[in-house]
Amino acid sequence: MSRIAVVGLGNMGGPMAANLVAAGHTVTGYDPVPAARETAARAGVDVAGSSPEAVTGAEVVITMLPSGKHVTDVYAELLPAAPAGALFVDCSTIDVGSSRAAHAAAAAAGHRSVDAPVSGGVVGAEAGTLTFMAGGAPEAITDAEPVLAVLGKRTVRCGDPGAGQVAKMCNNMVLGASMIAVSEAFVLAEKLGLEPQALFDVVSTSSGQCWAVSTNCPVPGPVPGSPANRDFTGGFAAQLMLKDLRLAQDAAAEAGIELAMGRRATERYTEFTERDDRVQDFSAIVTDIRKGG
Ligand code: NAD
Repeated sequence: MSRIAVVGLGNMGGPMAANLVAAGHTVTGYDPVPAARETAARAGVDVAGSSPEAVTGAEVVITMLPSGKHVTDVYAELLPAAPAGALFVDCSTIDVGSSRAAHAAAAAAGHRSVDAPVSGGVVGAEAGTLTFMAGGAPEAITDAEPVLAVLGKRTVRCGDPGAGQVAKMCNNMVLGASMIAVSEAFVLAEKLGLEPQALFDVVSTSSGQCWAVSTNCPVPGPVPGSPANRDFTGGFAAQLMLKDLRLAQDAAAEAGIELAMGRRATERYTEFTERDDRVQDFSAIVTDIRKGG
């Protein structure tokens, strides 16, 4: 069993830390939000008084933070405080530049590092069924795998430092655009008198099949577990989808390419989150399309 620090005990990091405790690891953690610390403590996490204190003695340091700036700032505090040769695993979804900077800072401080953003959301974090997209030195990813295996069902080796973030950003750009396309199809079908179940039966078994229809269907009924059946609560928040779409647009601009679908999806989610409840599942964009938005 390992000594593992988890820094960032929010919606994702909290249940991930709890699963590591349940698997028998010694887990220390920190989050500036008292409620997050209390929930983690109830799950058996040894809550420290600060981030540097949490990583003292840790063999593995997992970070699950909101943005690239959070990660680089927190790394500046953690790297000098962790034991030599510690393995840093950043599971946050962040921009590729910050991720590569975090890897470089970890190497300069004598640590190993992996970027391992996740797919699967809060439900996957709680159930221990996340998918990790890993970037970094192959040996570092190998060392991270036993810990990631507690938290998820699959780790995909994506390549060099930052490659996990590239894969995550590209995946979520596909997801954002496909959710809009699927939602437009359901709204058009409604307007033309086609039952949602009939459209689902066709698309989910035909060439339009994708996760946005077969798992996260934006209308209630065809997929009983999709957030549309519970007023779009408990899913992947529209504001997080927008964050990921913006990361892809920023990366495209830096690479000097225009991604028209990704840009339009970013605009649609910007409009939607300005008008509506930002924490609703991103499939709630169907309600905006229905209103003619
Ligand atoms: P969250 O806001 O619930 O958790 C982030 C936590 O980081 C917060 O509790 C915050 O207090 C803490 N934090 C901020 N600054 C800190 C610091 N200096 N030291 C320690 N902790 C600090 O967000 P989340 O939903 O848990 O998401 C975390 C990351 O996972 C994000 O990058 C997000 O994009 C990604 N992600 C989220 C989901 C999801 O469904 N929620 C899915 C996939 C990926």
